[in-house]
Amino acid sequence: MLDIQKLRSEFPILESSIHGDKPLIYFDNGASVQKPKRVIERLEQFYSKEYANIHRGVHYLSDLSTNNYENSRLSIQKLINAKHSHEVIFTSGTTGGINLIANGITALRKTGRNELLITYMEHHSNIVPWQILAEKEDLKLKVIPIDKSGVLILDHLENYLNEKTLLFSFTHISNSLGTINPVTDLIKAAQDCGAYTLLDAAQSVQHIPLDVQALNCDFMAFSGHKIYGPTGTGVLYGKENLLEQIPPYQGGGDMIDSVTFEKTTYNSLPFKFEAGTPNIAGGIALNSAVDFLFEYNIKDIAMHESKLLDYATAAVSQIPNLKIIGQADDKSSVLSFIIDGLHPFDIGTLLDTHGIAIRTGHHCTQPIMDFFNIPGTCRASFAAYNTIEEIDLFVQKLQAVVRLLS
Ligand code: PMP
Repeated sequence: MLDIQKLRSEFPILESSIHGDKPLIYFDNGASVQKPKRVIERLEQFYSKEYANIHRGVHYLSDLSTNNYENSRLSIQKLINAKHSHEVIFTSGTTGGINLIANGITALRKTGRNELLITYMEHHSNIVPWQILAEKEDLKLKVIPIDKSGVLILDHLENYLNEKTLLFSFTHISNSLGTINPVTDLIKAAQDCGAYTLLDAAQSVQHIPLDVQALNCDFMAFSGHKIYGPTGTGVLYGKENLLEQIPPYQGGGDMIDSVTFEKTTYNSLPFKFEAGTPNIAGGIALNSAVDFLFEYNIKDIAMHESKLLDYATAAVSQIPNLKIIGQADDKSSVLSFIIDGLHPFDIGTLLDTHGIAIRTGHHCTQPIMDFFNIPGTCRASFAAYNTIEEIDLFVQKLQAVVRLLS
């Protein structure tokens, strides 16, 4: 069981008030989560006592920073159960990881494989890189449709996923619908027809314990800032033999073995993909975020969030003319909704005056909004530190906002 009071006490920002005296209720966790003290303090410790560049120095601080940075990689390896630590590539975030693969995947192209596959519920960062690649390499981009509950239509999967598919890239959990996709089945189906898989775990790694070896995905990307870590950090996981075959993404320092004007040879994994000075502080503090997840246990966090979602869903369903967008049976802690006749932006702005932070708009998933023929939704998304009491207040204020706007 989660000790919610102890957990909350780790987040200094949750003690703050906004707009004068309104205690903060933060329900914008799908966009980014708040940071526990241990992450904030780790950043401060690094900058105040340990700061130096990594990998190249012979001096004490450089050695210390390098060890701490590489320890973070080991923690990520443990978090996702990667076989090797060099299969963990540090990136700037999910977007960075997906773009890295989009840039290099054609090195793995096999004859007759001219299609890329995504789904209708992808974040723009798992759409646009593939559109760019498709245009550049003359590939066809196919899209698995969704139904009105926000669930993938997999009836005729073979029309989308077959011997023409080079790569199937899909989200584990939809950031705007909350749908949890049947990841094991999808990866298996892709492998059965010889397609590579990239799992967008931006919304799942903090909610569901992931084991990349059991999942058997070829690649997986996620962001540090959504797992209680610093912004500008992220991870791309890839199977060793595939990463070996993909050319470097960017050229520069650290990613080389030797450089002459005639010929440059590249560094080994993971450094081949980590050109230039990275976000050292962020990478080191990411370890504290992983530590937080291990201490509170992702399964316990998920159970708590699931209770919050059920409670909030039942409560908002009582509000007349409110429609929940995303009604999959298997859902993560995302509650997207619209209210007939009211604009999401107005609802979000008025809730903010009560100290309640939700997100409104298309959530970087415009095709989903087009599918439902709506400009956007209001999205309340829950994290480990949210409480039933916060939801009660949110629902009460939401009712007041509806009365005011109607
Ligand atoms: N994929 C999904 C499902 C997301 O929710 C997000 C962030 N909202 C991203 C990708 C992109 O993450 P980032 O901006 O951290 O790179």
